[in-house]
Amino acid sequence: MGFITVNEGFNCELCGAKVPPAKGTCRNHCTKCLASKHVDDHIPGDRAAMCRGLMEAISAEGTELDKVVISHQCEICGKVQRNKVSSDDNRDVILKLMKLTQL
Ligand SMILES: [Zn+2]
Ligand SMILES: [Zn+2]
Repeated sequence: MGFITVNEGFNCELCGAKVPPAKGTCRNHCTKCLASKHVDDHIPGDRAAMCRGLMEAISAEGTELDKVVISHQCEICGKVQRNKVSSDDNRDVILKLMKLTQL
């Protein structure tokens, strides 16, 4: 059994945006508000978690916009997951998170 990676579009449960599948990577958060959903357990893309809670972006680490790692926290179980940003993520939201994180 290899890794199962799912790359699919979805409708964001926080802002309602229609998020298309990512190019060349695994889409796991909304490009508009950066919200995610608790569907992955151990490996990003494994879709093994049963929680299905909404995960809001809580912080962003890094200095270069393209290499920023954002942290998502699940509103149901509190699990924190870190994800790389995608090239089509909303820059304003990332910048805002970066500023918050550096305070
Ligand atoms: Zn959204
Ligand atoms: Zn959860």
